[in-house]
Amino acid sequence: MYGAIFGDIIGSRFEFDRGGKTKTFELFTNQCGWTDDTVMTVAIMEALTNAGKDADADTIHTECIRSMKKWGKRYPNAGYGSSFFGWVLTDDPEPYGSFGNGSAMRVSAAGWIYDTVERTREVAKATAEVTHNHPEGIKGAECTAAVMFLARTGKSKEEIKEYVIKEFGYDVSKTVDELRPLHEHVEWCQDSLPKALASFFEGDSYEDVVRNAVSLGGDTDTLAAIAGAMADAMYGVPEEIMVQGKKWLEKDMLDTIKGFEDFLQNKKDLKYC
Ligand SMILES: [Mg+2]
Repeated sequence: MYGAIFGDIIGSRFEFDRGGKTKTFELFTNQCGWTDDTVMTVAIMEALTNAGKDADADTIHTECIRSMKKWGKRYPNAGYGSSFFGWVLTDDPEPYGSFGNGSAMRVSAAGWIYDTVERTREVAKATAEVTHNHPEGIKGAECTAAVMFLARTGKSKEEIKEYVIKEFGYDVSKTVDELRPLHEHVEWCQDSLPKALASFFEGDSYEDVVRNAVSLGGDTDTLAAIAGAMADAMYGVPEEIMVQGKKWLEKDMLDTIKGFEDFLQNKKDLKYC
């Protein structure tokens, strides 16, 4: 559950190329912190919990809008883009055609809940299109959640790669080493997904995948959030990272994640907020 969130926290201190584009660094230091990726990941966890497993798209839209605006106002200084924060504050939130990587960084809850890849993609699309209704914004969210579904249901990296190429058409031919010198700070799905995917396909553990993503530079917190979500679904988060990472989170975030975990285990059908 925490894969995207810890990726965000670990990557946060290197955003805007403040790192050395290296895989060798301390995972957690006092310069780390959660950013918008964590706040919105928690918001989507809450929204999908409240919507229930069988919700239709309209219900998912309503719950996503409600939770994203609530959490965005609660933590207004988390590093949102200006268009998104305008959406958080407005009384009449409408999608604004974005293909920013925000749709992919917040979607990971959808990767954990559903029984088929088709349903996973349908819900991922619904979480994206309340803001990121550009086809690339929707594709980034669907791909992230689909990779998570396939990873947690036992598909191999090769099978997942084939699916990604066939269904989404991303270029996944370049290695992390080949991508690293090319990388600039671009916050688009069509730039971030191939980089997060390369980090995931090449890494051999949660930590290795996150280190790959951070080593690319640029939008490191979001790259590590997207790749970290995929890696969590395949490998899980190791206990020592779990213990360290949780220390950075606020109580209301931990409570909401716990509510999501209970929902996944069918302990709770009732709304909790
Ligand atoms: Mg961020």
